[in-house]
Parts: sequence; C-alpha cells; structure tokens
Amino acid sequence: MTTPIYLAHDHMDLAEDFRRDLESGVTGKILHLTIDSWIEAPTREQYEAAYYSYDGYLERGLAAAARVHRIAADPANSTRIIRSYSDLEAAASEGHLAVILGNEGGKILGSDVSLVDAWWWMGLRHVQFNWAMRNLIGACQSNEDEPDRPGLTEFGAEVVQRMNELGMIVDVSHSAPQTIRDVLQVTGKPILNSHSGSREIADKPQNLWDDQVRDMADNGGVIGVHFCSRLVLGVNDRQAEIEDVVQQVRYLVDKGGIDVVGLGPDWVLGKPERDNNYLRNTDQTDITWAKGLEDSGEIGNLRPALGEAGFSGSETDKILGGNLQRLFRDVLPA
Ligand SMILES: [Zn+2]
Repeated sequence: MTTPIYLAHDHMDLAEDFRRDLESGVTGKILHLTIDSWIEAPTREQYEAAYYSYDGYLERGLAAAARVHRIAADPANSTRIIRSYSDLEAAASEGHLAVILGNEGGKILGSDVSLVDAWWWMGLRHVQFNWAMRNLIGACQSNEDEPDRPGLTEFGAEVVQRMNELGMIVDVSHSAPQTIRDVLQVTGKPILNSHSGSREIADKPQNLWDDQVRDMADNGGVIGVHFCSRLVLGVNDRQAEIEDVVQQVRYLVDKGGIDVVGLGPDWVLGKPERDNNYLRNTDQTDITWAKGLEDSGEIGNLRPALGEAGFSGSETDKILGGNLQRLFRDVLPA
C-alpha cells in the first residue's frame, strides 16, 4: 500500500462526499453513522425529548447503515465497506474509498451485548461509546466532575470485551476521564480517541490532559486531532488556522510520541436536510473548521504544513494515516 490518508472521525455519508474524499487523496475513513442524540430532529422539542431517551436510536442507526451499504453496492461509487484488514488492502489496490462503519455513541447497542454481534453482522466495526450525555455504557465528558467519578459500567465492560473478541474499534472520544481509564484497564487491544486534542492548549472537556495522552500512547492507541476551531483553540469566536492544527499535532507528539497521532476532522456540514436542524438543535450556529481544512477537498494542505513545521516525511506519513493503519491492523479481523 502507498502511504495512506485515514480519517478517524467523519460524518459525510453521501456518494458525492465519497467521491470528493477519493479525488482528494483520502484512502479511507471511519464514518460515524449516527450520534447519541437526534441531532437532525425536526424541532428543538423533539431533540430535547430524545436527549436521554433510547427511543429511535437503533432504527436510525440501521437506516443510516443501510443507506451507506446501498451506495457501496453500486460499483460507480468506488466505495468498499471494510469488514477486515484485508478489505483495506483490497480497497487500496482497486482505488476504492475504504469506509469503516462506526457510530458516535452507544445507544444503538441498547442494553444488550448481543446487539454488538448483530451490528457486527451489519458491517459495523467501530463504536464511540459516548456523545454529550451519559448512557448505559458509561459516563461522558460532562460527568467528569461528579463526586462519585462515574466511569465505565458493567455493561460497558462487557461491550469492550465483546468488541475486542470480534475485532471492532473501541473509541473513547467524549467519554469521561474515568470511563477512559476504565476502558484502558479492560481492553486487550489498542483503542481510539477519534476527535480530540490537547486540553493544555484548548481547555475543552473533549480534549485530553497530558497524562491522558500518555495513557493512550502506552496502550498503543491513536488520538485523532480535531479540525474544528473551538477544539483546536479552546475559544468559540475565532476560526483556527491550519498552523493551529499543526501546533496541536506537535504538542501531542511531544507528549505521547509520534505513534499516537492521527486525523479526526469531524466534518459534518454539507447535507442540507441535516445542517439547519443540527445547528439549531445543538446551539452551534457559530461552528467553524480550521481555514484550509474545511472539507476533505483541502486535506492535501496538511502534508506541506506539517513539513514546514519540521516533521519528516516518515513522521508525516504516520500522522496522516500510518498510525491509524496500524490500529486497524491490530484490531480488525485479518
Ligand atoms: Zn463528536
């Protein structure tokens, strides 16, 4: 395989998105099918009613998975759903986009570990345990200051074990620090933190303190660096520059080593039926991504920017895709 570019966190799920990815040099991505809240709910009331509920998540997840399978089934779309590591090699050699089906939140698993298996047969190879609220798997980032320090539940531990056995990627982005520590105790495989950054640079609860960066490195895991301005900078009112993203990369590499960093852009806008409801429901009308990294068509800007910051060619290869490729090899079935 030539040097790949892999994205650990992306929501762009239309055939035209896959085409742009491929044309821009993206080798593959973890596509987060749905989120643990109903972000595209038609009204704010429906969004809020669904916030702590489990209703509708399995159905919306299945529908989203079916839509992507239908796109991949059409050879004109040059897309392969990845079930094993050898699928990644096949996708690369046929020039197809490698799509790893994943989900941002564990509500699609209900309270039944056998649903991990059901999703496995649907082609799912990744679950990020939390979004912005606690669920049956564990506590999320907004629970971090609660006095009893909630973390992974017993059900959550069973989910980790079953995902390890099947060969699915465990993702702890948005989880509480205690949940992440608990997952690291239970897992027998490297884990992912798919869209995050340094909290020393940008103090947002989704980002990681230095000891958490080192824990991820000790596990052989990967942290996908976020491109969203407020996670890069720690403030909401300014658009980040590509140099700010590179500074995040540099900091994480200094703390955790060159093997711990990957890309976690979290692009989500550009789908008309989702955008307006999502931005209104989640109060994020001011959201921006770093200049020069606003969609996958701009991914080619990263290599020169990393080079200018002093990263060697082989270091840049690891950041752009080599580290995630290693995680895929370590976790997915052969
Ligand atoms: Zn997210």
